[in-house]
Amino acid sequence: KQNSRKKLVAGNWKMNGSFDSNEALVLGFLPEVDDQVDVSVFCPFPYLSQVGKLLEDQRVTFGAQDVSAKPGGAYTGDVSVDMLKEFGVKQVLVGHSERRQYHAESSVAVAEKAVAAIQGGITPIVCVGETLAEREAGKVEAVIASQLDPVVERCSKFVESGTWNLVIAYEPVWAIGTGVTASPEQAQEVHAMIRARLNAMLGPEVAQNTRILYGGSVKPGNASEIFAKVDIDGGLIGGAALSSDDFSGIIRAAR
Ligand code: PGA
Repeated sequence: KQNSRKKLVAGNWKMNGSFDSNEALVLGFLPEVDDQVDVSVFCPFPYLSQVGKLLEDQRVTFGAQDVSAKPGGAYTGDVSVDMLKEFGVKQVLVGHSERRQYHAESSVAVAEKAVAAIQGGITPIVCVGETLAEREAGKVEAVIASQLDPVVERCSKFVESGTWNLVIAYEPVWAIGTGVTASPEQAQEVHAMIRARLNAMLGPEVAQNTRILYGGSVKPGNASEIFAKVDIDGGLIGGAALSSDDFSGIIRAAR
């Protein structure tokens, strides 16, 4: 592979887990982690403290699955960047398709969350992806651009200040939790398009250094061929991140 980007394997636990199952899961995959691959897990808010303790002095980072763009105040149910940081959180998912779909998060709202995260010194993993209907209508590029551009526009100031720190996850909605994964070629095509867009809007250095993950039904059996593509820098893993054997297999595939 001709790039210097280290692979990242990120587990999105979604609304799953319990004290017991979280502990078994983390202790199960930890032996697989070394310094060749970055690994992180995104747990529900109530488990941040537990997961932080389980991962103390380990190479695995952890984060939340959403964050507020607001610093604090009358926003019932929301959680701020500073609160996450008190738990040792280093990264946060923003704009997951389930947030966009069930909580009506707009691309501008997602971009504001990404800004708040970077400003606070944590890395947003910004999720983008088209639905099946949008793909069939030939709108993949337009949809990705409409999700990505507000983020890039608002975060370009961090390139100027040297604090750009963002990961993109391409997750075609039709591949999430369906068992239908994008083919490595389909995924690579969109990743290359995203990188070209970063290049055009923010320049070659940002484009070459920004990691773009693929997500959507990644399993131990298909991860290697997906991760082998030149613009795919790892994965955002849902279902398979809930099994320590599967998650371990995917970490191995990223080496
Ligand atoms: P999946 O989910 O791996 O279960 O398809 C991926 C995600 O939603 O991040």
